Amino acid sequence: CGIVGVAGRANAETVLIEGLRRLEYRGYDSAGLGVHCSDGRLRRARAPGKVSALETVMRPEVSGSTGIAHTRWATHGAPTEANAHPHQAGRVCLVHNGIIENYKSLRAELVACGRRFASETDTEVVAQLLDRELDGGADPKAALIATLGRLEGAFALAAIIEGEPGLVLGARRGAPLVAAVGDGASFLASDIMAITGEARSVIYLHEGDAVIVRPAGVEVLNAMGEVVDRPLVPAPASM
Ligand code: GLU
Repeated sequence: CGIVGVAGRANAETVLIEGLRRLEYRGYDSAGLGVHCSDGRLRRARAPGKVSALETVMRPEVSGSTGIAHTRWATHGAPTEANAHPHQAGRVCLVHNGIIENYKSLRAELVACGRRFASETDTEVVAQLLDRELDGGADPKAALIATLGRLEGAFALAAIIEGEPGLVLGARRGAPLVAAVGDGASFLASDIMAITGEARSVIYLHEGDAVIVRPAGVEVLNAMGEVVDRPLVPAPASM
């Protein structure tokens, strides 16, 4: 339902939670975040219910400069902690808006090659596919493009990868997602409102775009993984 991503901002978790608060008006049943922590590990906090419930399960060690967050409106799997985003598979931690229509066949394929699932969501196949590509030796960009090529349905995605501090991957097809650049940090959000105040300029991603978000800036790719030009426009002022 709602997505926020931050690359290269000290205490990203505070920006993520504030971003989720600003997306609360959309309605949701669970909330969660994942952070690439300063010690190099990925840590998550997730809770059914409101963003205030997520805050009660936050731990001081869930802190770092890069992370992703989500408010979930369940479509596949009950609104439980285990089904709340982000979903983690190996080195990958991922959030998703929308529906992966072919998740059943993808899940069967992944289970057949020994992958174990921790949730009932359609989303988890995306994390598993991305991790399998990385396991096979692909770099994050190639892994993202290969994974997107397997998906049917409507989605906006954001992911972080263990061992890749400062990196947030994103993509959109049939669901909104914007990328933004601030002072030494970059952002992703399903709605620009989540990051006004932090964002200086915005890229309104096009249908089918993939995006590599790093503290120094944002690179937009098409479905073939080729870099495409998207206008960077001034961000709306915060209210
Ligand atoms: N289909 C996903 C799920 O049920 C994402 C739903 C959403 O857009 O929040 O977990």
